[in-house]
Amino acid sequence: MTTWRARVLSPVTEDELLWLEDALVRLEDGLIVELGPYDGRAVDEDLRPGVLLPGFVDAHLHYPQTRIVGSATGPLLDWLTASTFPEEQRFEDEDHAAQVAAMFCNRLASSGTTLCLAYGSVHPGAAQVLLSALAEHGLKALAGPVLMDTDCPSALQLPAERAIPALEALIARWHGHDDGRLRVAVIPRFALSCSTELLEAAGACAHRHGLYVSTHLAETVEECRIARRRFGTDDYLQVYEVAGLIHDRCVLAHCIHLSDSEWDRLAAAGVSLAHCPDSNDFLGSGSMPVAAARRRGLSIAVGSDVAAGRSFRIPRILSSAYDNGLRQGVTLSAASLLWWGTRGGALALGHPETGQIRPGLEADLCLFDPPPWVEDADGVVASLIFDHDAPRMRQTWVRGICVWEQL
Ligand SMILES: [Zn+2]
Repeated sequence: MTTWRARVLSPVTEDELLWLEDALVRLEDGLIVELGPYDGRAVDEDLRPGVLLPGFVDAHLHYPQTRIVGSATGPLLDWLTASTFPEEQRFEDEDHAAQVAAMFCNRLASSGTTLCLAYGSVHPGAAQVLLSALAEHGLKALAGPVLMDTDCPSALQLPAERAIPALEALIARWHGHDDGRLRVAVIPRFALSCSTELLEAAGACAHRHGLYVSTHLAETVEECRIARRRFGTDDYLQVYEVAGLIHDRCVLAHCIHLSDSEWDRLAAAGVSLAHCPDSNDFLGSGSMPVAAARRRGLSIAVGSDVAAGRSFRIPRILSSAYDNGLRQGVTLSAASLLWWGTRGGALALGHPETGQIRPGLEADLCLFDPPPWVEDADGVVASLIFDHDAPRMRQTWVRGICVWEQL
C-alpha cells in the first residue's frame, strides 16, 4: 500500500476536468483505491508541488524510427524512400533492434507515456526484441511487426506465407503477457505496401485471435490516388473493408483525406482514430477534419507518429492538435485535449482499466512539475501542453510500479 499527498489533474469526461489542489491518493496492488481531498493523515510521500496526471497514451508510433526523429521533410512517400526504409532495414540485426528498443522504451516512459500502440519493422525478430524490452521496462503496449510485401525494398518484403506464421508465433509468446499488459496487434503498414493477399491474411489473423488491427489511412492525397488505382476500389477505405480489417478493434492513423461516405462508414464500424497532428504538419500531409470525426462520435486518440512526428511527448502532440483544430474553426478545450491524450487513447486501444485518476482503475500515472507560480488547473494545462520549454516529467508509474524517474 502507498499513500501520497499531491496535486491531481485528470479528465473526467471529454468536457470535464478533475482538479484537486491538495489530494490524498492511496494505491494498493497496482490499483488506485482512494482519491479525495487531503484529510491530514500521515502519507508515505508528499509529491507536491508536483501534479499527478494519468499516464499518457500514444496510439500511433514507429519504434524503428526512434533514431530518425527530425528527418521527415515531406512529402510522405518521398520520406519513406529516402529515410524510413533504409533505417528500418537495419532491424534485421537484432542487436541493433535491442539497442533502439531500450532507447524507445526510455523515451516513452520519460515522456509520461504508459500505454502505446507501437509499429515495428517488418522483421519478426525485431518485434520479439521490442516486446521483450516493453516487458522489461514495465510499460503497457500493443505492438507487432508491420506487414509489407509490395512496393518497398526487397529486404523489407515478407510474403503472407512467411509473415503470418511468424506473427502467430509472436501471438503465442506475447499476447496477454503479464495480465494483458502486452498485446500483439496486427499491423499491415498501409495499402501501398501490401498485396490483396497480405491484407486479407492480416484481417483473417486478427479475426482468428480477436486482436486489434492498426494501419494508416488517407494520410496524403497522392497515397489515396495510388490506392484507388491499384486496388480498383471506389475509395481508399474500401481497400481495407474488403480485407475484413475495419471493425471496432481497428485503430486508423491520420484519416485526413476522406469523403463523407468514408467518414460515415468508419463511424458505423466503430473504429478509433489515431490523430497525428504533429506528423501531419511536419510532412505537410494536411489537417485532420476534426469536426467530421467528432460529429459522428468517433473515438479519438492521438499519436506522436514518431518519427514523422517530432516528439515522444504526448502533451506536445496535444498542442499540435489544438492548432489543427483552430485551422478547422474548432477551439478544443483543455478537457478534450487531455481526454484524447489519456482516457480517450486508453479506450481506443481496448484498455478501459486505465487513462484516468479514479478509484478502481490501475495506477498508470505520471508526475509533472509545473513552474512554481502555477496554482490552478488552467495554469497546469498551459504549462503542460502549451509551454514547450516548461520542465518535464519527474516520475512515471505503471500499475503503481515506478518505470522511470528523473535522477
Ligand atoms: Zn505512422
